[in-house]
Order: sequence, then structure tokens, then C-alpha cells
Amino acid sequence: MLKRLRNDFQLSIITLMGFFGALGITPYAIYRLLHGNYLVGTADTVIVISTLSAVFYAWRTGDTVKPGIYLACIFSVGSTLIAINLGVNGLFWIYPLILFNFFMVSPGKAIAATLMVLLSLVGHALWVPGSVFESQYQMVSFLVTNMMAGVLTFIFAYRTRHQREQLQGLAIRDPLTGARNRRAMDDELKIAVSSKRRHGRSYSVLAMDLDHFKQINDQYGHPAGDQVLVSFVALIKAGSRKEDRLFRVGGEEFLLLLPDTSLSGLEAAAAHLQKLVRELLRSPGGTVSVSIGGAILRTDEPWPNLLQRADQCLYQAKSAGRDCTIIDRSEEGSPVASLPTAGPATTL
Ligand code: GH3
Ligand code: MG
Ligand code: MG
Repeated sequence: MLKRLRNDFQLSIITLMGFFGALGITPYAIYRLLHGNYLVGTADTVIVISTLSAVFYAWRTGDTVKPGIYLACIFSVGSTLIAINLGVNGLFWIYPLILFNFFMVSPGKAIAATLMVLLSLVGHALWVPGSVFESQYQMVSFLVTNMMAGVLTFIFAYRTRHQREQLQGLAIRDPLTGARNRRAMDDELKIAVSSKRRHGRSYSVLAMDLDHFKQINDQYGHPAGDQVLVSFVALIKAGSRKEDRLFRVGGEEFLLLLPDTSLSGLEAAAAHLQKLVRELLRSPGGTVSVSIGGAILRTDEPWPNLLQRADQCLYQAKSAGRDCTIIDRSEEGSPVASLPTAGPATTL
């Protein structure tokens, strides 16, 4: 539980808000309901219940986007109603609301919510003079300070989000080729396993290893080898589907994860990519080929096992003379733990 809170920033913010929401607003709700201020009392109660439901939903599903939008809407509408009803005493809540919205949703949505709240308050104040603000001067001061808070928070949130995306990009990519790295592969394979279990979505992998790559390094130098790796990644990306994911597993070893791919689809993809590499990948010494091992994810199969099956096929492809593909065709029901060293496989 603590680990989830530490790793998922949105979840921790939603949980924190749930805690504050329940703890901080409940006394107000009770107080107002007891004193006959039913509109504000009900708004407070709705906010508390919504917050708790959103926290519960986020913890159960792991989805923090929908609860975030839901909470931002509920808090914005609730705070606006409270401010309209209580006047100046309620206006103080608008400042934390701005910060809250920027934590919950994207900077664009948060600034839109802020503008909606301010427009509603000013609109109501102009419609019913003296209802929200005590004077025109107060209204203008409120507007200016809120706009400033909104714009500054927007800049801060936008910059933070941009930097976080950059960092995330750096953390999951291999700097030489731009392919995703091993860490990203582990995460994506975990997601694939649970998606297969929950939704029955099919996943396949192709383990690829360039043939006689060491010779390129030895004969033409490391930079020439690097260039071949970069060109290989560009070729595979161009030759695979948008939803396929390419990972660099090690030196000249790669893994392609193909969602929604049947056995025949996997064979076709492997044949296509192999042909592409054979015809277009060049080193200073001439053509470069790739050996491929393929496997289809089984239900409830741990992902390291899937990789192991694909690797065994790759190993067989190397033994069979390289520049070929071997796909594991062993039955879905066959035991996962005791893999045959040379399971039923087909050379393409
Ligand atoms: P095989 O056909 O059996 O796969 O033989 P191979 O020569 O391709 O395989 P081997 O595993 O013997 O050699 C892989 C080489 O890849 C050795 C290593 O120096 C080189 N290598 C690993 N990472 C990089 C890299 O980032 N850049 C370059 N240029 N070479 C790398
Ligand atoms: Mg190799
Ligand atoms: Mg290798």
C-alpha cells in the first residue's frame, strides 16, 4: 500500500484529498446542516461523499484520471455554490481550489475550470448585486489575485508536466537507438500479461539478434556497429505496426511485442521484418541479417517464461544457420514451468 502511494503521485494526491476532504469538510457539513443552511450543508456532504468514492475507485481500478476529473468538477461546482451562498467567507476556498485542480487534472483543464469558477462568481455577483462581494473594489481585487494565482500555477504545472514527460522519456529509452529499454520492456510485459488475463487480448513476441555483429565491430570499428544498430531500429519501426513495441534488450538483441497477433500474423510479421533487414540493412562490409525467435503469450504465463520460449527459438534459429525465424508452436495447455529445450517449433 505504501509502495503504491510512493510510486503513484496522482493516487497519493487523491488519497490525501480524501483524507482532508473527509476530515476537514465533514464538521462544516454537520455544522451547516444543524444550523439550517441546507444548501451549503448538502454541497459539503456531496463533496465529502464524492471524495471518498473517488478515492475508493482510484484504489480499486488504478485509474486516477477519471476520479481526478470528477473531483475537480465536484470541488469546483461545490466551492462556487458555497462562495455564492456564504459571500466573502466562502471566497477563501477558491484559492486552495485552484491549486487542487492543478494537482488533479491537466494544466489546460485546470485553467479552464478556474475561469469557469471565476466567471460564475462574477456573473452571479453582477446578476444579484451585493450577493457575493461586498464592493466592486473587492470583486476586482478578488478577480486579479485569482487570475494571478491561476496563471502562475498554470506556468508551474505546465513546466513540471513537460519536465516529467522528458524524464519519463529518458528513463524508458535507450540513448543510442531510441528504442525502449529493458525497464520499459518489463513494465509493458507485465501489462500484457494482466491484459491477456483480464480481457483475453492476445500478445506475441519476436526476439531478434543481429547475425555476426561482432565481426562488424571488429572489422570496421564500434561506430560502424552503432550505425547498424540505429539503422536496424529505424527499419523495424518502419516495418512494424504503430501499436507494436520495440525494446533493446542488450547489445544487438531486441524484442518486438506485438499485441492482437495470431500465429499466422506473427509468422507474416517475422518474415516481413527479416526480409526488410536482409534487403536493406547494410554495414560497411555489406548486408546484415537477423535471426528471430517467436512465441505467443499463454494465459497466466509469467512473462519471463514467454521470453525464455522466444529465446530458445532464437537460439535454434542461430543453430539452424542464422537469417531465419523459429516460432514456438507448442500447445497453449502444455506445461509452462517445464519448458522443452527444443520444443515444437517451425523454421520459416
Ligand atoms: P551471432 O550471430 O551468434 O549473434 O554472433 P554475434 O557476433 O552477433 O554475437 P556476439 O554476442 O558474439 O556479439 C555481440 C557483439 O555486440 C559484442 C559486443 O561488443 C557488441 N555490442 C554490444 N553492444 C554494442 C553497442 O552498443 N554498440 C556496438 N557497436 N557494439 C555493441
Ligand atoms: Mg548477434
Ligand atoms: Mg547477441
